[in-house]
Amino acid sequence: MTRTVAGRLAGIFAATAALIAIGFVSIGFYASYGGLVIAGAVAIFVGSTVAAAVDPTRAENHAGVVAFYILALGAAYFLMALTSASLAPARALGGPGVYPPMPRDGAPVTYPPQRLNLHGGLVLQAATMTVFEGARLIAGDGSAPIDNAAFVVDGDRITAVGRKESLQTPLGARRVDLTGKTVMPALVDAHVHLGYRSGTTFTAANYTRENLLDTLDRFAYFGVAAVLEAGTGRGELPFQVRAGAGTPTRYLTAGSGFAMPNAGPGGPMRDAARGVTTEADARAQVQELARRKPDLVKIWVDDRNGTVEKLEPNLYRAIIDEAHKQNLRVMAHIATLDDAKDLVRAGVDGFAHVFRDRAADAELLAMLKARPNVFFLETLWGVRTAIYQETPAWLAEPITREALSPAQIAQLRDAFLVPAAPATVQRALEEADRLTSNVAALHKAGVKLGLGTDTGGVTGGGYFGLATHVELELLVKAGLTPAQAIAAGTRTSAEILGLTNLGTLAPGKSADFLVLDANPLDAIGNTRKIARVYARGAEVDRAALKARWAASTTAGRRPM
Ligand SMILES: [Zn+2]
Repeated sequence: MTRTVAGRLAGIFAATAALIAIGFVSIGFYASYGGLVIAGAVAIFVGSTVAAAVDPTRAENHAGVVAFYILALGAAYFLMALTSASLAPARALGGPGVYPPMPRDGAPVTYPPQRLNLHGGLVLQAATMTVFEGARLIAGDGSAPIDNAAFVVDGDRITAVGRKESLQTPLGARRVDLTGKTVMPALVDAHVHLGYRSGTTFTAANYTRENLLDTLDRFAYFGVAAVLEAGTGRGELPFQVRAGAGTPTRYLTAGSGFAMPNAGPGGPMRDAARGVTTEADARAQVQELARRKPDLVKIWVDDRNGTVEKLEPNLYRAIIDEAHKQNLRVMAHIATLDDAKDLVRAGVDGFAHVFRDRAADAELLAMLKARPNVFFLETLWGVRTAIYQETPAWLAEPITREALSPAQIAQLRDAFLVPAAPATVQRALEEADRLTSNVAALHKAGVKLGLGTDTGGVTGGGYFGLATHVELELLVKAGLTPAQAIAAGTRTSAEILGLTNLGTLAPGKSADFLVLDANPLDAIGNTRKIARVYARGAEVDRAALKARWAASTTAGRRPM
């Protein structure tokens, strides 16, 4: 009798030792069903062998006890995994120091090592999964919305999208009911200027890490998943912030762009650009910039109504050629149709603005047809006062007050109220008119249109995130349908920036999306009725951000 008990105990101890030895924790806890079954089988084999060695008379009996022990352990673990999946608190972004690790976009997805074996598992992986169900889903690719949709988010990725009734959802996953809501991909703003604006001030002294991070938080608040700083980065800081920022909004930068000396961007951003005068110097500076791996190269080709020297065609040809040799693409700031044409001939990859001196003509449209990857950002936000004939509705919306100080709102409103001199008004109206009709012409011709606002720059003001949403409304005013405007601001902008895991809601994409209280396909302004924002699968803590901004006396400062 004693010998039998000793045999059973020895078997159980041996089985436990075997489980630990083969990595119960690393295989069983995080891996698939298959991993758990293999671990259990090995443990039963080791346990019953040891038990039989201690007491060979009742070998089958010992094997049964060991097997029962292992199965009971498995069942307990199974129940524990289900419980932890349903009880685990939702992770939140937005507070200090609580961001999850951020894999660089475009790079292969890097799961933490303990989750490498998830594939093939059914139940255990449910601990990291969430099913969002019941919403109307706009995929961002211009396709018809899915009513009563469901989609599965595993960690930071979307793994399945479909109709709620037909989508297979994992047992034990956390469920989020979004009935009555609309879900759309997070936006991408491919033309902004970070760092100079803070509150109502506009100065190079604002260009600090804290201000860059605070600005990225403002974009996150509005559900903007990525922004490109268009050539006004100062020194190493933007590259350091890009590498280290654990912010929900991805920070892309063109570093410092190219112009004739002292002839690039306006206002306090002027000295951020590189002044070049010879082709050799232009090439050398592109090589120097390339070492920092900018996300794009920015050039300014504009004489600012005759006030500065315009970048010479031989110089921009050298810059474009050298950038392409370095595997970098070039985006040009322009104002005129002729410059747009010559830049297309020179091989430019895209434009930061749409020309507004003349109407798009057949020659340009033919050139663009031959080069369908050349993109335009419209920056209609920059001429907002001329496009809106009256004070826009969004000035009075709650979301405007949530993210902007009263002084910023006053500054924004005044631009709509204070009448300029009649001649100036007339000129601005004509220019805005040409701009919107050129946008319509490019759109009709099938040219690639992304979303860029110039927020943070001279005309963009410090209305980070809000402007990105208003740009959608302005694109609709220019003739795009709401679905087309959303596709421009999501899929196409992500494509322009090479962010292959953003822009649409589809399996394999990063889980960055907006939950809206109303349908933007009915009225594009509904993109501003934001209920929640998710970045990389985690909800952005918008309440914490709002409270931080409300509490900050020096508007725009991120607490250290
Ligand atoms: Zn700009």
